[in-house]
Amino acid sequence: MRIADYSVTKAVLERHGFTFKKSFGQNFLTDTNILQKIVDTAEIDKNVNVIEIGPGIGALTEFLAENAAEVMAFEIDDRLVPILEDTLRDHDNVNVINEDVLKADLQTRVKEFKNPELPIKVVANLPYYITTPILMHLIESKIPFAEFVVMMQKEVGQRFLAQASAKEYNALSVIWQYKCDCKKVMDVSRHVFWPSPRVDSVVLQFTFHHKYHYANEAAFFWLVKSCFVQRRKTIYNNLQNALKDKELALQMLEKAGIAPSKRAQQCQLEDFMRLFEANESSLIAAYQNQS
Ligand code: SAM
Repeated sequence: MRIADYSVTKAVLERHGFTFKKSFGQNFLTDTNILQKIVDTAEIDKNVNVIEIGPGIGALTEFLAENAAEVMAFEIDDRLVPILEDTLRDHDNVNVINEDVLKADLQTRVKEFKNPELPIKVVANLPYYITTPILMHLIESKIPFAEFVVMMQKEVGQRFLAQASAKEYNALSVIWQYKCDCKKVMDVSRHVFWPSPRVDSVVLQFTFHHKYHYANEAAFFWLVKSCFVQRRKTIYNNLQNALKDKELALQMLEKAGIAPSKRAQQCQLEDFMRLFEANESSLIAAYQNQS
């Protein structure tokens, strides 16, 4: 029997008198086939360290612990700590950290792995209310992760998968294409969770391609976000608002060969990169001025 088997989950929750906290996005998975597929997709073996965010009562953690060298699991809800001690008592390679992952100093934390040289993968069924901030926090940590295999709300997943001109395409889509290749692993019905959320889910695999290395990535991300601020407006309109300089905005677009009448939604990653590279020092200065 597995922790994720419905009857085991039910028994664990009853034994500990656990009540779900909606504000923490607590929807626990009760489907072992999905968990197996996640672990297989992530190719977790004894030469891989894993970071899990939000272990809950340990449904996914159990599968990870069996396969990985070590699992570091960040859980915000202190009521789950004694439950995890109970459900994962047979696994000595799990380190549960009772901390809000958004506040965690991940660079320091990863040094706590017994073998910090091993590749690190992030595997998680993410709390949906903060999926994007968590993923941004992970990439901003600058840890050279090998990959992420993560479950999230379907609508959010579509933004990561979207290509230029699609209605879901936004700054996030561009920033993530700059960092990694993103692939859909599977759709997951809302009915395999307890309690059932109001939305369906998707599992995505992010593989870091390490193709691009801007020294000032924050300035590039700022540029991309600025160009999408008002989606219906042209890239020129958004850029001049960010720079507070119409003439400079026009010059920058011209240098990059981008028509001012285009909308950011129609621009590919390569267009944003050209815009940044053609005007790098001025854009970094503008970014530093406003931050
Ligand atoms: N992994 C479990 C599963 O698949 O059944 C639980 C997933 S549940 C969708 C999300 C988990 O993330 C919950 O256990 C919740 O308490 C935890 N969580 C929510 N916000 C968090 C945060 N900021 N940092 C760490 N954990 C968080």
